[in-house]
Amino acid sequence: MRCRKCSEEAVIHLRSHRLALCREHFFERFLSVVKRTIKEYRLLSKRDRVLVAVSGGKDSLALWDVLLELGYSAEGVYIDLGISRENYSEISKRRALAFAEQRGIKLEVVDLRREYGTTVPRLARRSTRSVCGVCGIVKRHLMDSTALEGGYTVLATGHNLDDEASVLLANLLRWNMDLLARQGPRLEAWHPRLVPKVKPLCLLTERETAAYALLKGIEYVYELECPYSERATSITMKEALNRIEERSPGTKLYFYREFLKHREIFSPPEGRGGAGECEVCGFPTTSRRCAFCRLVA
Ligand code: SF4
Ligand SMILES: [Zn+2]
Ligand SMILES: [Zn+2]
Repeated sequence: MRCRKCSEEAVIHLRSHRLALCREHFFERFLSVVKRTIKEYRLLSKRDRVLVAVSGGKDSLALWDVLLELGYSAEGVYIDLGISRENYSEISKRRALAFAEQRGIKLEVVDLRREYGTTVPRLARRSTRSVCGVCGIVKRHLMDSTALEGGYTVLATGHNLDDEASVLLANLLRWNMDLLARQGPRLEAWHPRLVPKVKPLCLLTERETAAYALLKGIEYVYELECPYSERATSITMKEALNRIEERSPGTKLYFYREFLKHREIFSPPEGRGGAGECEVCGFPTTSRRCAFCRLVA
């Protein structure tokens, strides 16, 4: 197959766009989609100090790479969750550190075991929540506090189109109006201790971010998944969407883009502004202590 732009050998065929591209034109398109997403949804400015949430996987490392390519000031944070099965956290951390070292950029490692004497699986065993539920609370809190303490102006995550479309489907199936109103490429800071959160890769598929990382020679964690990921609801949603996409290429992008066009029909959550502050960490919460501080107490 030949590249549509230059007739060189194509390295990827994007069925949803009926587009075959060579390496060079694939990179060009990838960067231009990220640029357009940033502009269209006002995600970042060149004055921002961006903190990239890095997991060691393809999406977050591809995101970090692209933001640097586009000239943003972007440093990283890796949260060591202490997942020892299959040596997952250790291998992921090594890939994230190697990426930062090769480029001479700062990666802050927040180690849950060192700082709080515990791990995500251990917290989950003593909680009624699922491992992924606990993990979400831990990651959110530690990313927010790292962004605040480091004086960053925005937190960027590597969520791709598959992630966003699967969350959208799950939220729609439950008609979760609060989450539907909040879902989007940019979540504004609604409390002085929080920074805005942005998702510059949200219009690129998982296949595209994997191809970008691979073709760029980025050493990401490709040989293993988090051992708890099979239990995540998002996997079921992703499988369902992939089956639809197989039959009808482009549905995923259409589904998510059209939602973004019409999402004002979902009213914004009420009462968030009235939230109090956690007596331990000072982050917003509706209880005396936030979910994170209750978990680690
Ligand atoms: S799959 Fe679950 S436990 Fe594993 S990193 Fe993701 S949220 Fe955390
Ligand atoms: Zn080409
Ligand atoms: Zn707290």
